[in-house]
Amino acid sequence: MTDTLSPNTSRELRDRADALLRALGTKLPEPGALSARSPITGSELASLKPTAAADVDAAIGRAEHAFRAWRTVPAPQRAAVVRRLAELLTEHKDDLGELVTLEAGKIGAEARGEVQEMIDICEFAIGLSRQLYGRTMPSERPGHRLMETWHPLGVVAVISAFNFPVAVWAWNTALALVCGDTVVWKPSDATPLTALACHSLLQQAAIDVGADPHVHQLVQGGAEVGSQLVDDARVALVSATGSVRMGRTVAPRVAARFGRCLLELGGNNAAVVTPSADLDLAARGIVFAAAGTAGQRCTTLRRLIVHVDVFGPLLDRIAAAYRQLRVGNPLDDGVLVGPLINGRSYEAMQEALQRAQADGGELICGGDRVDDFGADAYYVRPAIVRMPAQTAVVREETFAPILYVLTYHELDTAVDLHNAVPQGLSSAIFTQNQREAERFLAADGSDCGIANINIGTSGAEIGGAFGGEKETGGGRESGSDSWKSYMRRATNTINYSTELPLAQGIKFE
Ligand code: NAD
Repeated sequence: MTDTLSPNTSRELRDRADALLRALGTKLPEPGALSARSPITGSELASLKPTAAADVDAAIGRAEHAFRAWRTVPAPQRAAVVRRLAELLTEHKDDLGELVTLEAGKIGAEARGEVQEMIDICEFAIGLSRQLYGRTMPSERPGHRLMETWHPLGVVAVISAFNFPVAVWAWNTALALVCGDTVVWKPSDATPLTALACHSLLQQAAIDVGADPHVHQLVQGGAEVGSQLVDDARVALVSATGSVRMGRTVAPRVAARFGRCLLELGGNNAAVVTPSADLDLAARGIVFAAAGTAGQRCTTLRRLIVHVDVFGPLLDRIAAAYRQLRVGNPLDDGVLVGPLINGRSYEAMQEALQRAQADGGELICGGDRVDDFGADAYYVRPAIVRMPAQTAVVREETFAPILYVLTYHELDTAVDLHNAVPQGLSSAIFTQNQREAERFLAADGSDCGIANINIGTSGAEIGGAFGGEKETGGGRESGSDSWKSYMRRATNTINYSTELPLAQGIKFE
Protein backbone atom coordinates (compact mmCIF):
# COMPACT_ATOMS: atom_id res chain seq x y z
CA MET A 1 0.00 0.00 0.00
CA THR A 2 1.26 3.48 -0.74
CA ASP A 3 0.17 7.11 -0.52
CA THR A 4 0.93 9.87 -2.95
CA LEU A 5 2.11 13.36 -2.07
CA SER A 6 0.41 16.60 -3.05
CA PRO A 7 2.30 18.80 -5.54
CA ASN A 8 2.69 21.41 -2.79
CA THR A 9 4.40 19.07 -0.41
CA SER A 10 7.93 20.39 -1.00
CA ARG A 11 6.92 23.95 -0.12
CA GLU A 12 4.90 22.73 2.85
CA LEU A 13 7.87 20.75 4.13
CA ARG A 14 10.15 23.78 3.86
CA ASP A 15 7.67 25.97 5.74
CA ARG A 16 7.18 23.26 8.34
CA ALA A 17 10.95 22.91 8.87
CA ASP A 18 11.18 26.69 9.41
CA ALA A 19 8.30 26.60 11.89
CA LEU A 20 9.83 23.67 13.79
CA LEU A 21 13.25 25.35 14.00
CA ARG A 22 11.59 28.48 15.39
CA ALA A 23 9.59 26.44 17.91
CA LEU A 24 12.85 24.79 18.98
CA GLY A 25 14.40 28.21 19.59
CA THR A 26 16.83 27.82 16.69
CA LYS A 27 17.98 30.76 14.61
CA LEU A 28 17.30 30.08 10.94
CA PRO A 29 20.60 29.54 9.14
CA GLU A 30 22.03 31.93 6.58
CA PRO A 31 21.84 30.32 3.13
CA GLY A 32 25.00 28.62 1.89
CA ALA A 33 26.47 25.70 0.00
CA LEU A 34 25.27 22.95 2.37
CA SER A 35 21.83 21.76 1.33
CA ALA A 36 19.44 20.23 3.87
CA ARG A 37 17.09 18.00 1.90
CA SER A 38 14.05 16.03 2.91
CA PRO A 39 14.06 12.45 1.65
CA ILE A 40 10.24 12.67 1.73
CA THR A 41 10.35 14.58 -1.57
CA GLY A 42 14.07 14.97 -2.22
CA SER A 43 13.53 18.73 -2.13
CA GLU A 44 15.52 21.33 -0.20
CA LEU A 45 14.35 22.30 3.28
CA ALA A 46 16.99 24.97 3.77
CA SER A 47 20.61 25.66 2.95
CA LEU A 48 23.39 26.77 5.23
CA LYS A 49 27.06 27.63 5.21
CA PRO A 50 29.47 24.81 5.92
CA THR A 51 31.92 25.69 8.69
CA ALA A 52 35.13 27.11 7.20
CA ALA A 53 38.44 25.53 8.24
CA ALA A 54 39.43 28.60 10.29
CA ASP A 55 36.11 28.45 12.14
CA VAL A 56 36.53 24.73 12.86
CA ASP A 57 39.93 25.57 14.29
CA ALA A 58 38.39 28.32 16.43
CA ALA A 59 35.61 25.99 17.63
CA ILE A 60 38.19 23.44 18.81
CA GLY A 61 40.04 26.29 20.52
CA ARG A 62 36.89 27.41 22.35
CA ALA A 63 36.11 23.85 23.43
CA GLU A 64 39.68 23.38 24.66
CA HIS A 65 39.57 26.64 26.59
CA ALA A 66 36.16 25.80 28.14
CA PHE A 67 37.52 22.39 29.16
CA ARG A 68 40.09 23.93 31.50
CA ALA A 69 37.35 25.23 33.82
CA TRP A 70 34.70 22.58 33.09
CA ARG A 71 36.94 19.72 34.28
CA THR A 72 37.08 21.28 37.76
CA VAL A 73 33.30 21.66 38.14
CA PRO A 74 32.10 18.77 40.35
CA ALA A 75 30.43 16.07 38.23
CA PRO A 76 27.00 16.32 39.95
CA GLN A 77 27.02 20.05 39.16
CA ARG A 78 27.99 19.38 35.55
CA ALA A 79 24.91 17.16 35.39
CA ALA A 80 22.71 20.25 35.83
CA VAL A 81 23.22 21.07 32.14
CA VAL A 82 22.19 17.57 31.14
CA ARG A 83 19.16 17.70 33.46
CA ARG A 84 18.03 20.94 31.84
CA LEU A 85 18.64 19.48 28.39
CA ALA A 86 16.38 16.54 29.30
CA GLU A 87 13.66 18.96 30.38
CA LEU A 88 13.93 20.90 27.12
CA LEU A 89 13.89 17.67 25.11
CA THR A 90 10.78 16.50 26.96
CA GLU A 91 9.09 19.83 26.27
CA HIS A 92 10.07 19.72 22.57
CA LYS A 93 9.83 15.99 21.94
CA ASP A 94 7.21 16.25 19.21
CA ASP A 95 8.87 19.20 17.45
CA LEU A 96 12.30 17.63 17.37
CA GLY A 97 10.80 14.27 16.40
CA GLU A 98 9.00 15.85 13.47
CA LEU A 99 12.20 17.57 12.35
CA VAL A 100 13.92 14.16 12.40
CA THR A 101 11.11 12.84 10.19
CA LEU A 102 11.51 15.75 7.75
CA GLU A 103 15.28 15.47 7.54
CA ALA A 104 15.97 11.74 7.93
CA GLY A 105 12.64 10.32 6.73
CA LYS A 106 11.88 8.25 9.84
CA ILE A 107 8.24 7.50 10.62
CA GLY A 108 6.81 9.53 13.51
CA ALA A 109 6.90 6.74 16.11
CA GLU A 110 10.58 6.00 15.43
CA ALA A 111 11.53 9.68 15.29
CA ARG A 112 9.87 10.38 18.64
CA GLY A 113 11.48 7.19 19.94
CA GLU A 114 14.85 8.63 18.98
CA VAL A 115 14.13 11.76 21.03
CA GLN A 116 12.96 9.58 23.93
CA GLU A 117 16.30 7.79 23.72
CA MET A 118 17.99 11.19 24.14
CA ILE A 119 15.95 11.84 27.28
CA ASP A 120 16.77 8.35 28.58
CA ILE A 121 20.52 8.81 28.15
CA CYS A 122 20.33 12.22 29.85
CA GLU A 123 18.68 10.57 32.86
CA PHE A 124 21.34 7.87 32.85
CA ALA A 125 24.10 10.50 32.68
CA ILE A 126 22.61 12.50 35.56
CA GLY A 127 22.72 9.42 37.83
CA LEU A 128 26.14 8.53 36.50
CA SER A 129 27.50 11.91 37.60
CA ARG A 130 27.45 10.55 41.16
CA GLN A 131 28.88 7.16 40.20
CA LEU A 132 32.15 7.80 38.37
CA TYR A 133 33.69 5.20 40.61
CA GLY A 134 37.33 4.23 40.84
CA ARG A 135 38.51 1.04 42.59
CA THR A 136 40.64 0.65 45.66
CA MET A 137 43.08 -2.29 45.55
CA PRO A 138 45.02 -3.89 48.40
CA SER A 139 48.63 -2.76 48.27
CA GLU A 140 51.40 -5.39 48.67
CA ARG A 141 53.34 -2.88 50.78
CA PRO A 142 52.60 -2.10 54.42
CA GLY A 143 51.34 1.43 55.13
CA HIS A 144 50.32 1.91 51.50
CA ARG A 145 47.07 2.36 49.69
CA LEU A 146 46.42 1.78 45.98
CA MET A 147 43.50 3.30 44.14
CA GLU A 148 42.39 4.60 40.78
CA THR A 149 40.75 7.90 39.97
CA TRP A 150 38.95 8.90 36.78
CA HIS A 151 39.52 12.32 35.27
CA PRO A 152 38.04 14.23 32.34
CA LEU A 153 39.78 13.55 29.06
CA GLY A 154 39.54 16.83 27.13
CA VAL A 155 37.82 17.78 23.89
CA VAL A 156 35.65 15.04 22.40
CA ALA A 157 34.86 15.22 18.68
CA VAL A 158 31.54 13.58 17.87
CA ILE A 159 31.19 12.65 14.20
CA SER A 160 27.75 11.21 13.52
CA ALA A 161 25.80 9.46 10.76
CA PHE A 162 22.57 10.50 9.06
CA ASN A 163 20.40 7.64 10.28
CA PHE A 164 20.41 8.48 14.00
CA PRO A 165 20.81 12.22 13.60
CA VAL A 166 20.05 13.13 17.22
CA ALA A 167 20.28 10.07 19.52
CA VAL A 168 23.93 9.26 18.78
CA TRP A 169 24.87 12.85 19.53
CA ALA A 170 23.01 12.63 22.85
CA TRP A 171 24.64 9.28 23.76
CA ASN A 172 28.02 10.89 23.40
CA THR A 173 27.33 14.39 24.62
CA ALA A 174 25.36 13.58 27.79
CA LEU A 175 28.13 11.24 28.97
CA ALA A 176 31.01 13.45 27.82
CA LEU A 177 29.61 16.49 29.64
CA VAL A 178 29.09 14.77 33.00
CA CYS A 179 32.54 13.20 32.60
CA GLY A 180 33.94 16.75 32.39
CA ASP A 181 34.78 16.83 28.70
CA THR A 182 33.75 19.44 26.17
CA VAL A 183 32.31 18.50 22.78
CA VAL A 184 32.76 19.53 19.16
CA TRP A 185 30.01 17.94 17.05
CA LYS A 186 30.23 17.29 13.31
CA PRO A 187 26.85 15.86 12.32
CA SER A 188 26.14 14.19 8.98
CA ASP A 189 25.90 16.72 6.15
CA ALA A 190 22.55 15.06 5.34
CA THR A 191 21.02 16.19 8.64
CA PRO A 192 22.29 19.69 9.49
CA LEU A 193 18.95 21.12 10.69
CA THR A 194 18.33 18.62 13.48
CA ALA A 195 21.92 19.34 14.55
CA LEU A 196 21.23 23.08 14.70
CA ALA A 197 18.17 22.38 16.84
CA CYS A 198 20.05 20.10 19.27
CA HIS A 199 22.89 22.59 19.54
CA SER A 200 20.54 25.44 20.36
CA LEU A 201 18.71 23.35 22.98
CA LEU A 202 22.03 22.57 24.64
CA GLN A 203 23.11 26.21 24.51
CA GLN A 204 19.80 27.12 26.14
CA ALA A 205 20.30 24.44 28.81
CA ALA A 206 23.78 25.75 29.62
CA ILE A 207 22.57 29.36 29.84
CA ASP A 208 19.59 28.38 31.99
CA VAL A 209 21.80 26.71 34.61
CA GLY A 210 24.60 29.28 34.45
CA ALA A 211 27.15 26.98 32.78
CA ASP A 212 29.58 27.97 30.02
CA PRO A 213 27.79 27.40 26.66
CA HIS A 214 31.19 26.93 25.02
CA VAL A 215 31.28 23.40 26.43
CA HIS A 216 29.49 22.45 23.20
CA GLN A 217 30.51 23.51 19.70
CA LEU A 218 28.79 22.65 16.42
CA VAL A 219 30.64 22.49 13.11
CA GLN A 220 28.82 21.64 9.90
CA GLY A 221 29.92 20.10 6.63
CA GLY A 222 31.10 16.89 5.04
CA ALA A 223 34.07 14.58 5.41
CA GLU A 224 36.58 17.45 5.09
CA VAL A 225 35.25 19.06 8.27
CA GLY A 226 35.34 15.68 10.05
CA SER A 227 38.91 15.19 8.82
CA GLN A 228 40.03 18.39 10.46
CA LEU A 229 38.75 17.14 13.83
CA VAL A 230 40.41 13.77 13.26
CA ASP A 231 43.83 15.31 12.70
CA ASP A 232 43.77 17.96 15.43
CA ALA A 233 45.96 17.02 18.39
CA ARG A 234 43.76 19.13 20.71
CA VAL A 235 40.98 16.57 20.22
CA ALA A 236 41.50 13.88 22.86
CA LEU A 237 38.80 11.47 21.69
CA VAL A 238 37.23 11.05 18.26
CA SER A 239 33.88 9.30 18.64
CA ALA A 240 32.93 8.45 15.08
CA THR A 241 29.71 6.76 13.96
CA GLY A 242 29.28 5.79 10.33
CA SER A 243 30.41 3.39 7.65
CA VAL A 244 33.34 0.99 7.86
CA ARG A 245 34.86 2.98 4.97
CA MET A 246 34.88 6.11 7.15
CA GLY A 247 36.33 4.21 10.14
CA ARG A 248 39.11 2.79 7.98
CA THR A 249 40.25 6.33 7.20
CA VAL A 250 39.71 7.82 10.64
CA ALA A 251 41.19 5.13 12.93
CA PRO A 252 44.80 5.07 11.63
CA ARG A 253 44.98 8.86 11.53
CA VAL A 254 43.88 9.25 15.11
CA ALA A 255 46.22 6.41 16.12
CA ALA A 256 49.11 8.12 14.33
CA ARG A 257 48.87 11.06 16.72
CA PHE A 258 48.17 8.74 19.71
CA GLY A 259 44.66 10.13 20.09
CA ARG A 260 41.77 7.96 21.18
CA CYS A 261 39.03 6.63 18.93
CA LEU A 262 35.59 5.30 19.71
CA LEU A 263 34.26 3.68 16.55
CA GLU A 264 30.63 2.72 15.90
CA LEU A 265 30.67 1.43 12.34
CA GLY A 266 28.56 -0.69 10.02
CA GLY A 267 26.86 -3.94 10.90
CA ASN A 268 25.67 -6.99 9.00
CA ASN A 269 23.36 -8.41 11.56
CA ALA A 270 21.83 -11.87 11.50
CA ALA A 271 19.20 -13.87 13.34
CA VAL A 272 19.18 -17.66 13.68
CA VAL A 273 15.76 -19.33 13.87
CA THR A 274 15.79 -22.85 15.34
CA PRO A 275 13.09 -25.54 15.06
CA SER A 276 11.87 -24.83 18.60
CA ALA A 277 11.24 -21.12 17.94
CA ASP A 278 7.88 -19.48 18.49
CA LEU A 279 7.41 -18.64 14.82
CA ASP A 280 4.75 -15.98 15.30
CA LEU A 281 6.93 -14.09 17.76
CA ALA A 282 10.00 -14.62 15.56
CA ALA A 283 8.19 -13.28 12.49
CA ARG A 284 7.13 -10.12 14.32
CA GLY A 285 10.64 -9.52 15.62
CA ILE A 286 12.18 -10.20 12.22
CA VAL A 287 9.88 -7.89 10.24
CA PHE A 288 10.49 -4.91 12.57
CA ALA A 289 14.24 -5.49 12.62
CA ALA A 290 14.57 -6.00 8.84
CA ALA A 291 12.08 -3.51 7.39
CA GLY A 292 11.87 -0.84 10.13
CA THR A 293 13.56 2.49 9.38
CA ALA A 294 13.58 1.29 5.74
CA GLY A 295 16.55 -0.93 6.58
CA GLN A 296 18.65 2.09 7.55
CA ARG A 297 19.71 1.17 11.07
CA CYS A 298 23.19 -0.02 11.88
CA THR A 299 21.41 -2.86 13.71
CA THR A 300 19.00 -3.68 10.86
CA LEU A 301 18.51 -7.40 10.39
CA ARG A 302 20.16 -8.24 7.07
CA ARG A 303 20.62 -12.03 7.24
CA LEU A 304 18.20 -14.70 8.41
CA ILE A 305 19.59 -18.17 9.06
CA VAL A 306 16.67 -20.59 9.38
CA HIS A 307 16.55 -24.29 10.18
CA VAL A 308 15.29 -26.20 7.14
CA ASP A 309 12.39 -27.68 9.13
CA VAL A 310 10.81 -24.29 9.83
CA PHE A 311 11.95 -22.44 6.73
CA GLY A 312 8.61 -22.76 4.85
CA PRO A 313 6.22 -21.71 7.64
CA LEU A 314 8.50 -18.87 8.78
CA LEU A 315 9.01 -17.48 5.30
CA ASP A 316 5.25 -17.60 4.64
CA ARG A 317 4.62 -15.52 7.75
CA ILE A 318 7.32 -12.96 6.96
CA ALA A 319 6.44 -12.60 3.30
CA ALA A 320 2.76 -12.13 4.20
CA ALA A 321 3.69 -9.36 6.66
CA TYR A 322 6.02 -7.73 4.10
CA ARG A 323 3.21 -7.59 1.53
CA GLN A 324 1.11 -5.61 4.00
CA LEU A 325 3.80 -3.10 4.99
CA ARG A 326 2.62 0.37 4.12
CA VAL A 327 5.39 2.26 2.32
CA GLY A 328 4.92 6.00 2.09
CA ASN A 329 5.14 9.49 3.49
CA PRO A 330 6.54 9.05 7.02
CA LEU A 331 4.39 11.97 8.22
CA ASP A 332 1.24 9.91 7.55
CA ASP A 333 -0.26 7.72 10.25
CA GLY A 334 -0.14 4.04 9.49
CA VAL A 335 2.96 4.24 7.28
CA LEU A 336 5.62 1.81 8.50
CA VAL A 337 8.32 2.28 5.88
CA GLY A 338 9.51 5.73 4.85
CA PRO A 339 11.99 6.72 2.14
CA LEU A 340 15.64 5.89 1.64
CA ILE A 341 17.91 8.83 2.37
CA ASN A 342 18.85 9.48 -1.28
CA GLY A 343 19.32 8.12 -4.78
CA ARG A 344 22.74 6.63 -3.97
CA SER A 345 21.11 4.37 -1.39
CA TYR A 346 18.52 3.30 -3.93
CA GLU A 347 21.21 2.51 -6.51
CA ALA A 348 23.23 0.55 -3.95
CA MET A 349 20.13 -1.48 -3.13
CA GLN A 350 19.39 -2.25 -6.79
CA GLU A 351 23.00 -3.21 -7.42
CA ALA A 352 23.00 -5.54 -4.41
CA LEU A 353 19.75 -7.18 -5.55
CA GLN A 354 21.20 -7.74 -9.02
CA ARG A 355 24.37 -9.26 -7.60
CA ALA A 356 22.37 -11.49 -5.25
CA GLN A 357 20.26 -12.77 -8.13
CA ALA A 358 23.36 -13.33 -10.25
CA ASP A 359 24.65 -15.48 -7.37
CA GLY A 360 21.51 -17.65 -7.61
CA GLY A 361 19.36 -15.70 -5.15
CA GLU A 362 15.60 -15.83 -5.58
CA LEU A 363 13.73 -12.58 -4.99
CA ILE A 364 10.76 -13.58 -2.83
CA CYS A 365 9.18 -10.12 -2.63
CA GLY A 366 9.85 -6.38 -2.76
CA GLY A 367 12.89 -4.51 -4.03
CA ASP A 368 10.93 -2.30 -6.41
CA ARG A 369 10.71 1.46 -6.25
CA VAL A 370 7.44 3.09 -5.31
CA ASP A 371 7.44 6.05 -7.67
CA ASP A 372 4.39 8.01 -6.53
CA PHE A 373 6.61 10.50 -4.73
CA GLY A 374 8.46 12.31 -7.50
CA ALA A 375 11.75 11.73 -9.28
CA ASP A 376 13.92 12.87 -6.38
CA ALA A 377 12.37 10.73 -3.62
CA TYR A 378 13.39 7.09 -3.21
CA TYR A 379 10.80 4.82 -1.65
CA VAL A 380 11.25 1.06 -1.95
CA ARG A 381 9.38 -2.03 -0.92
CA PRO A 382 11.54 -4.01 1.50
CA ALA A 383 12.99 -7.08 -0.19
CA ILE A 384 13.45 -10.70 0.84
CA VAL A 385 15.96 -12.77 -1.13
CA ARG A 386 16.41 -16.52 -0.66
CA MET A 387 20.15 -17.22 -1.06
CA PRO A 388 21.77 -20.59 -1.87
CA ALA A 389 24.95 -19.51 -0.03
CA GLN A 390 26.46 -16.58 1.86
CA THR A 391 28.11 -14.97 -1.15
CA ALA A 392 30.17 -11.75 -1.19
CA VAL A 393 27.16 -9.45 -1.51
CA VAL A 394 25.55 -11.03 1.57
CA ARG A 395 28.73 -10.44 3.56
CA GLU A 396 28.60 -6.70 2.80
CA GLU A 397 26.40 -4.13 4.50
CA THR A 398 23.99 -2.60 1.97
CA PHE A 399 22.26 0.21 3.84
CA ALA A 400 18.76 -0.56 2.56
CA PRO A 401 15.95 -3.01 3.38
CA ILE A 402 17.20 -6.31 1.96
CA LEU A 403 16.80 -9.46 4.02
CA TYR A 404 18.87 -12.41 2.77
CA VAL A 405 17.52 -15.78 3.88
CA LEU A 406 19.76 -18.85 4.26
CA THR A 407 19.00 -22.31 5.66
CA TYR A 408 20.91 -24.68 7.94
CA HIS A 409 20.73 -28.24 9.29
CA GLU A 410 23.03 -28.14 12.36
CA LEU A 411 23.23 -25.30 14.89
CA ASP A 412 27.04 -25.32 14.75
CA THR A 413 26.86 -24.61 11.01
CA ALA A 414 24.37 -21.82 11.64
CA VAL A 415 26.71 -20.18 14.18
CA ASP A 416 29.66 -20.51 11.77
CA LEU A 417 27.60 -18.92 9.00
CA HIS A 418 26.45 -16.23 11.39
CA ASN A 419 30.02 -15.27 12.29
CA ALA A 420 31.46 -15.54 8.77
CA VAL A 421 31.10 -11.84 7.94
CA PRO A 422 33.57 -9.01 8.56
CA GLN A 423 31.19 -6.99 10.77
CA GLY A 424 30.17 -7.83 14.37
CA LEU A 425 27.46 -5.51 15.66
CA SER A 426 24.16 -7.18 16.57
CA SER A 427 22.78 -10.71 16.51
CA ALA A 428 19.80 -12.76 17.67
CA ILE A 429 18.55 -16.29 18.02
CA PHE A 430 14.89 -17.29 18.14
CA THR A 431 14.56 -20.48 20.16
CA GLN A 432 12.70 -21.96 23.11
CA ASN A 433 15.47 -24.46 23.80
CA GLN A 434 17.84 -23.35 26.55
CA ARG A 435 20.76 -25.35 25.17
CA GLU A 436 20.47 -23.58 21.83
CA ALA A 437 20.15 -20.19 23.53
CA GLU A 438 23.22 -20.77 25.70
CA ARG A 439 25.19 -22.14 22.75
CA PHE A 440 24.52 -18.85 20.93
CA LEU A 441 25.64 -16.72 23.89
CA ALA A 442 28.73 -18.83 24.69
CA ALA A 443 32.33 -17.89 23.89
CA ASP A 444 32.15 -19.87 20.66
CA GLY A 445 28.68 -18.53 19.83
CA SER A 446 27.80 -15.14 18.36
CA ASP A 447 30.90 -12.95 17.93
CA CYS A 448 28.91 -9.70 18.05
CA GLY A 449 28.82 -6.89 20.60
CA ILE A 450 25.08 -7.47 20.98
CA ALA A 451 23.59 -10.98 21.20
CA ASN A 452 19.84 -11.30 21.84
CA ILE A 453 17.47 -14.15 22.56
CA ASN A 454 13.94 -14.00 21.16
CA ILE A 455 14.05 -10.37 20.11
CA GLY A 456 15.34 -8.86 16.88
CA THR A 457 18.71 -7.28 16.30
CA SER A 458 17.59 -3.65 16.42
CA GLY A 459 16.07 -1.39 19.08
CA ALA A 460 18.63 -1.52 21.88
CA GLU A 461 17.93 0.12 25.25
CA ILE A 462 20.31 2.78 26.51
CA GLY A 463 21.13 0.93 29.76
CA GLY A 464 23.47 -1.54 28.07
CA ALA A 465 26.79 -0.80 26.38
CA PHE A 466 26.17 -0.42 22.64
CA GLY A 467 28.68 -1.35 19.96
CA GLY A 468 30.26 -4.13 18.00
CA GLU A 469 33.37 -6.11 17.17
CA LYS A 470 35.53 -6.71 14.09
CA GLU A 471 34.92 -4.10 11.37
CA THR A 472 32.18 -2.53 13.48
CA GLY A 473 35.11 -0.95 15.29
CA GLY A 474 35.06 -2.20 18.89
CA GLY A 475 33.65 0.95 20.48
CA ARG A 476 31.04 0.98 23.23
CA GLU A 477 28.64 3.85 23.83
CA SER A 478 25.60 4.61 25.92
CA GLY A 479 25.02 2.60 29.15
CA SER A 480 26.90 0.21 31.45
CA ASP A 481 30.51 1.38 31.89
CA SER A 482 30.85 3.02 28.44
CA TRP A 483 31.55 6.28 30.30
CA LYS A 484 35.11 5.04 30.84
CA SER A 485 35.87 5.83 27.18
CA TYR A 486 35.29 9.50 27.94
CA MET A 487 37.69 9.67 30.89
CA ARG A 488 41.32 8.96 31.67
CA ARG A 489 42.36 6.73 34.53
CA ALA A 490 45.09 7.52 37.04
CA THR A 491 46.47 4.87 39.37
CA ASN A 492 47.49 6.39 42.71
CA THR A 493 49.79 4.77 45.28
CA ILE A 494 49.74 6.51 48.64
CA ASN A 495 52.42 5.85 51.25
CA TYR A 496 51.18 6.81 54.71
CA SER A 497 54.04 5.03 56.55
CA THR A 498 57.49 6.29 57.54
CA GLU A 499 59.24 3.58 55.48
CA LEU A 500 59.89 3.38 51.73
CA PRO A 501 59.44 -0.30 50.81
CA LEU A 502 59.77 -1.04 47.09
CA ALA A 503 57.33 -3.20 45.16
CA GLN A 504 58.32 -6.81 44.37
CA GLY A 505 60.49 -6.76 47.54
CA ILE A 506 63.34 -5.02 45.68
CA LYS A 507 66.15 -3.74 47.90
CA PHE A 508 67.96 -0.62 46.64
CA GLU A 509 70.30 0.31 49.45
P1 NAD B 1 29.22 7.81 6.53
O1 NAD B 1 30.36 6.97 6.90
O2 NAD B 1 29.03 8.20 5.12
O3 NAD B 1 29.28 9.19 7.37
C1 NAD B 1 29.29 9.20 8.77
C2 NAD B 1 29.92 10.48 9.27
O4 NAD B 1 31.33 10.43 9.02
C3 NAD B 1 29.42 11.74 8.57
O5 NAD B 1 29.32 12.79 9.51
C4 NAD B 1 30.51 12.01 7.56
O6 NAD B 1 30.57 13.35 7.14
C5 NAD B 1 31.74 11.61 8.34
N1 NAD B 1 32.91 11.24 7.53
C6 NAD B 1 32.94 10.52 6.41
N2 NAD B 1 34.21 10.33 5.99
C7 NAD B 1 35.00 10.96 6.91
C8 NAD B 1 36.41 11.14 7.03
N3 NAD B 1 37.25 10.65 6.13
N4 NAD B 1 36.87 11.83 8.09
C9 NAD B 1 36.01 12.32 9.01
N5 NAD B 1 34.68 12.20 8.94
C10 NAD B 1 34.17 11.53 7.89
O7 NAD B 1 27.88 7.09 7.09
P2 NAD B 1 26.36 7.42 6.84
O8 NAD B 1 25.98 7.08 5.45
O9 NAD B 1 26.05 8.79 7.34
O10 NAD B 1 25.66 6.40 7.86
C11 NAD B 1 25.41 5.05 7.57
C12 NAD B 1 26.51 4.16 8.13
O11 NAD B 1 26.69 4.42 9.52
C13 NAD B 1 26.17 2.69 8.04
O12 NAD B 1 27.31 1.98 7.69
C14 NAD B 1 25.71 2.35 9.44
O13 NAD B 1 25.81 0.98 9.77
C15 NAD B 1 26.64 3.19 10.25
N6 NAD B 1 26.10 3.45 11.59
C16 NAD B 1 26.67 2.78 12.63
C17 NAD B 1 26.16 2.96 13.91
C18 NAD B 1 26.73 2.22 15.08
O14 NAD B 1 26.43 2.59 16.20
N7 NAD B 1 27.52 1.18 14.88
C19 NAD B 1 25.09 3.84 14.13
C20 NAD B 1 24.56 4.52 13.03
C21 NAD B 1 25.09 4.30 11.77
